[in-house]
Amino acid sequence: MKTIKFKSFTSGSCGNCYFLGIFDETDACEAGVLIDAGYSPRRLKKELAREGLAMEDFSAMLVTHDHNDHIRSLGSYCKHIRVPVWTPPELARALAHHFITGDYYPFCRRELAAGWNEIVPGRIQAQYFAVPHDASSTFGYALMLDGYKFVIMTDIGRMVPQAMSFAKQADTVVIESNYDLEMLRHGPYPKILQDRICGGHGHLSNVECAEALREFVHPGLRNIFLCHLSEHNNTPELAYQTSFEVLKELYTPCAPSRGMAGYSLARTGVEPGNVLQGERIPRLCPLPRMTPSPMFIL
Ligand SMILES: [Zn+2]
Ligand SMILES: [Zn+2]
Repeated sequence: MKTIKFKSFTSGSCGNCYFLGIFDETDACEAGVLIDAGYSPRRLKKELAREGLAMEDFSAMLVTHDHNDHIRSLGSYCKHIRVPVWTPPELARALAHHFITGDYYPFCRRELAAGWNEIVPGRIQAQYFAVPHDASSTFGYALMLDGYKFVIMTDIGRMVPQAMSFAKQADTVVIESNYDLEMLRHGPYPKILQDRICGGHGHLSNVECAEALREFVHPGLRNIFLCHLSEHNNTPELAYQTSFEVLKELYTPCAPSRGMAGYSLARTGVEPGNVLQGERIPRLCPLPRMTPSPMFIL
């Protein structure tokens, strides 16, 4: 059976970079995509090797927006790796003039059309949607991997209907859970920066993330990953707990039955496979900021 796997290399203002791939029965990677380039090719190569993977295992890149933490190494990828870099036309124009992406971006530039695009022919399709954020333009992506539906929305000032409708159909959602409002208001950031973060064009708070989750959780949803957690204004525990409170309201625990694990809570999330009221509770997991996550089997 084919499996879909996902790994985060870094997530947050320090850098953002994610791998997503389709694996065959022998665990060989058949098709892969890299999302955002806030992690150097050198470090990526090393981390992929730990998973038995190589740079050749992804043949497309997607970029969400032109903030430094998402494109810091894009110039290096274009210079040395030269895989197609897919973005909507607005973002492609911004990247073409960005000092970080440099002279090599035009070789890799690919523009996404509205609707589904074949970014790895016959295997991975992508569709973009605009999200409010204070970059020149910012996008979330819905991906289809052999029919498996994956949605990522990071750096999103507030939820918007299109993001919500993709999330409502997804098998896996990666969503920002950036800050705890109390921590932000009492933290080290100047007032003007605080207002930027929570003003609707900055980042999504834990509560906003949890409220979004309340709306998009559906029986087919298998995994929720919380991304882009703030170092100063959040903790993984707070982000997890805020969303988990909502999941608890949506799913009622049932007694363990034969062959089924009961409702159990691990530090990093609810293990998938626990059956609650005949439905699987989705795995909920905050992604580490500075260190690579495990390779998740979705
Ligand atoms: Zn960011
Ligand atoms: Zn950003």
